[in-house]
Amino acid sequence: MSRECHDSDTIVLGAGMVGVSIAYHLARRGRSVVLVDRRAPGHETSFGNAGIIQREAVAPYAFPRDARTLLQVVPNRRIDIRYRPAGMLGAAGALFRYWQNSAPGAYARILPEYASLISLSTQEHAPMIAAAGAESLICRDGWLEMYRTPEAFEARLARATVLAERFGLTLERLDRAALAEREPELSKEAIGAILWRDSWTVADPGALVAAYAEAFEALGGRVVKANVTSMAQGEGDWRVTTETGELRARNLVMAMGPWAGDWLSRLGYRLPLFVKRGYHMHYAPPQGRGLRHWIMDAEVGYVVAPMRDGVRLTTGAELAPRDAPPELDQLDAAEAVARRLVPLGARLSDTPWKGARPCTADMKPVIGPAPEHDGLWFAFGHGHQGFTLGPATGRLLGEMMDGETPAIDMTPFRADRF
Ligand SMILES: Cc1cc2nc3c(=O)[nH]c(=O)nc-3n(C[C@H](O)[C@H](O)[C@H](O)COP(=O)(O)OP(=O)(O)OC[C@H]3O[C@@H](n4cnc5c(N)ncnc54)[C@H](O)[C@@H]3O)c2cc1C
Repeated sequence: MSRECHDSDTIVLGAGMVGVSIAYHLARRGRSVVLVDRRAPGHETSFGNAGIIQREAVAPYAFPRDARTLLQVVPNRRIDIRYRPAGMLGAAGALFRYWQNSAPGAYARILPEYASLISLSTQEHAPMIAAAGAESLICRDGWLEMYRTPEAFEARLARATVLAERFGLTLERLDRAALAEREPELSKEAIGAILWRDSWTVADPGALVAAYAEAFEALGGRVVKANVTSMAQGEGDWRVTTETGELRARNLVMAMGPWAGDWLSRLGYRLPLFVKRGYHMHYAPPQGRGLRHWIMDAEVGYVVAPMRDGVRLTTGAELAPRDAPPELDQLDAAEAVARRLVPLGARLSDTPWKGARPCTADMKPVIGPAPEHDGLWFAFGHGHQGFTLGPATGRLLGEMMDGETPAIDMTPFRADRF
């Protein structure tokens, strides 16, 4: 392959967890790589998430289909999911397909495909954590999926045990006493939890992405901070225009998370993408021991996490247009419930962080070659688990780009499945 006439071999667009991990893997493979983002690495969706490397997340989040849940969603007062009419209308086609793909038959096919990708998650983070010297950000004690009612706890435990046996995961059942021993400050509303042992937590998600970006630079990679304003295929290369100049390369990787769809439509692709927005707020840690684990209040639908900048509360899904102004009711409602569960100090900022999970209609990310363009590669749509799946995506895309047999079958993740 001749690389002389190009500024670089590959341009990666988007320096979130996905783009940074891809850039790192390609640089390790000996490619000259330029990573472009309008912000410093890890400052968008990959900054504000709950920071769980979810090795246990073999089953993606399905659209609720039972009448009871749907009836509860309609009044728009649930904490785990809220919708704004504009968000529903704008994404109606993709949401309808999401609903179809959540039917038992379709979902049963998707689940093992998704699990095959998740199975690579911690094993691919591990060498990157070591290369980045980021061990101090990582905790390998698992996280707690916490329940309030015995019925919900036992039903979930039964399903989780089946999944754990099928996919080789380790879980521990914590009854009220065992949970209280681990988290003495939890209120009595918590009656039990599943401890997911294989998953890891990260004290500062944005800092982990930044550390991975530094490891990429140490391999000779170049980070360019610039807003991309256009991209076009030239003769044998790709040209990317930014506010600071033009970049050229033989290959272009689209890893722009929730912004990927804007560019795909300009390139002529119609993929069923949508976003689920989410918020976070940090709270002053309480006096005393404080929280030790990341805890999901599973019957309500939010996560509290003892992070470096305070206790971070992250909300569930909001179906709303990506760029619409924030709506604070979901966070306020989650905070009110969380304050009764765990001791939370004062809010540490005036405005909550807002982000958007980049979702697809079949719950699986798009990873692989663009169907209609040579040298264009896709890596987006990682939904609820992009922080988990970045390094696995980097490895797999590197293998695909170099014509090797990928570690897992990538057919279910290619764009031409739609
Ligand atoms: C509240 C919440 C909690 C979550 N919790 C978890 C969790 O615990 N575990 C987990 O695995 N996942 C979690 N997620 C999901 C996860 O955060 C995302 O899937 C992941 O961050 C997506 O990464 P990405 O690299 O695809 O996108 P991003 O991190 O958004 O990166 C895309 C990048 O593209 C750049 N970009 C866009 N347009 C341009 C342009 N024109 N020019 C230059 N640059 C541009 C942006 O600046 C951005 O940096 C959570 C998400 C939310 C919202």
